[in-house]
Amino acid sequence: MYPELKLFIAGKWRKSGSDMPVVNPATEEEIGRLPCATQSDLDDALDAAQKGFQIWSRTSPRDRADTILRAAALMRERQEEIATSITLEHGKPLKQARLEVIRGAEFFEWDAGEAMRTYGRVIPAAHGHKFTVHHQPVGVVAAFSPWNFPMSQPARKIAGALASGCSVILKAAEETPAGALHIAKAFEDAGLPPGVLNLVFGNPADISGYLIPQDPVRLIAFTGSTTVGRHLTTLAAQHDTRVLMELGGHAPVIVCEDTDVQTAAISSAIRKMRNAGQVCTSPTRFFAHESIFDDYAARFVERARATVVGNGMDDGVEMGPTANDRRVPALTALVEDAVAKGATLATGGARHGDTGYFFQPTVLLNVPDSARIMQEEPFGPVAVVNPVTSLDHAIAQANSVPYGLAGYAFTNRADYIDRLVDEVEVGNLSINTLEASMPETPFGGVKSSGYGREGGTEGLDNYMTVKNVWHSVSIV
Ligand code: NAD
Repeated sequence: MYPELKLFIAGKWRKSGSDMPVVNPATEEEIGRLPCATQSDLDDALDAAQKGFQIWSRTSPRDRADTILRAAALMRERQEEIATSITLEHGKPLKQARLEVIRGAEFFEWDAGEAMRTYGRVIPAAHGHKFTVHHQPVGVVAAFSPWNFPMSQPARKIAGALASGCSVILKAAEETPAGALHIAKAFEDAGLPPGVLNLVFGNPADISGYLIPQDPVRLIAFTGSTTVGRHLTTLAAQHDTRVLMELGGHAPVIVCEDTDVQTAAISSAIRKMRNAGQVCTSPTRFFAHESIFDDYAARFVERARATVVGNGMDDGVEMGPTANDRRVPALTALVEDAVAKGATLATGGARHGDTGYFFQPTVLLNVPDSARIMQEEPFGPVAVVNPVTSLDHAIAQANSVPYGLAGYAFTNRADYIDRLVDEVEVGNLSINTLEASMPETPFGGVKSSGYGREGGTEGLDNYMTVKNVWHSVSIV
C-alpha cells in the first residue's frame, strides 16, 4: 500500500545513514521510514545533476518531450497506487488524491509540448550581420516542494525543469515523500538518463543551506511559506542564483449583490474545505455585499457544518485531517484570537476527534480587521465571512493583505468585472468559479506571494536563459 522510501541519486535508489518516521495524519500511525541525505549523498546528487545536465541539455526537445510523455503515461496507469500513497501520507480523500495524480500528469503533458516551443527570434540587422535570440536551459535546478499536494507540487517543478533541458535535485516534503518518489520511479521506467532527476530528503534547512551556495546550482525553485521563501531568496542572492518563488496566499472572494446567493454560498463552503483548506489559492476571506450577507453567511455555515470529515480512505469523506501536527495548534490560535477580538464563531473552531490531526470545518463571521487571521494565511479549513458596503469597500479589503496570489468574485455585472480585473492585486483572478489555474494557464503571485510563473506559455521562462548572438559575416 505504501512504498519503501529511498533517495534517488544518479539513477539509483539508496538508503542512507539516518531516517525519520512518516506518519499517517488520520491515524497518527507510522507508515514508513524516510532516509535523510548526508552531505556525501548531496555531493553525489550535485555531481550526478551536473553530468545529467550535460546529457539532457543536448537531448533534442522532441526526445525530451517523448520521455516526459512516457513518464506521464505511467503515472496515469499507476493512478490508483499513487493516489493511495498520497491519501495515506497526506490524509486527503482518495477521490481528491486520484484527481491530483491526473493533474500532476497534465502538468508534465503540457510542459512536454512547451519543450518544443521555446522559440528564439531573429532581430532585423544591417546587411552582413545577424542578431539571433536563443533560449537555453539555465543548468542544475535545486527544487523544494511542500506537503499539501504530494504529487502535483513536485510535478510542476520537475516538469518545467525537464522540459527546458535542466537537471534537477528535488527535496520533496518529508511529511509526504511518496508522491515525489512515484514520479522518480515513473521517470526511471520511462528511460530518463541517470542524474537528470535526483530526489533527496532530510532536514530542509540543512539541505537548502548546503545546496544553494553550490556552484552548479543555477536556479532555486521553491513552493512554501513566504517566510521560508524570503530566507531562500536571501541565500540565493548571496550567490547570484536565480529564484522561482511560489509563496503564500490569502485569497479574497468578493460576493456581489447580483449573484445567485445559494449557489455561490454552497460552492464557497465546498471549495474552502477542499484539501482541508491547505491550498495556497484556498478561498479564505469572503466579502459579501451587506444586502445579501445574512443569506449568504447562513447558507455558507450550513454547508460547512455538513462537511463529512474523516479518514480519506473511507467512502464519502469530503475532508481529511490537516497534514501534520503543526496545523491544529496554529489554527486553534488564529480562531481564539479572532473570537477574542470580537468575531462570531458560527461553526467549528476546534480539533475534531481524539486521533489524527483533524480540525473542524470552521466559519468566523464579522471578523474585525485587527484579528490576526485578517492578515495571516490560516492554511486550514477556516473561513472568514464579512459584510461589505460597496465594491470599493470589497476591493480595498481584498487588497489589504501583503499577499497577492489568487482572488475570486461572484458577479455577472460587466462594470464590476472590469474594475475587478484592473484593481484586485493578484496573479490569478477567477470570476464565478473558485478554480484558480490549469496547466495551460500561468500560475504565480504578486506582492509577497512570490515571483515567476509555472504553467502556461510562460512556465519554461524561469528555467531558461536568453542569449543574444551577433554574427557578423566578416570581421569588422
Ligand atoms: P514552513 O514554513 O516551516 O514550511 C513550508 C515548506 O517549506 C515545507 O514544505 C518545508 O519542508 C519547507 N521548508 C521549511 N524550511 C525550509 C528551508 N530552510 N529550506 C527549504 N525548505 C524549507 O511551514 P509548515 O508548517 O510546513 O507549513 C505552514 C505554512 O507553509 C503555511 O502556513 C503556508 O503558508 C505554507 N505552505 C505553503 C504552501 C503553498 O502551496 N504555497 C504549501 C505548504 C505550506
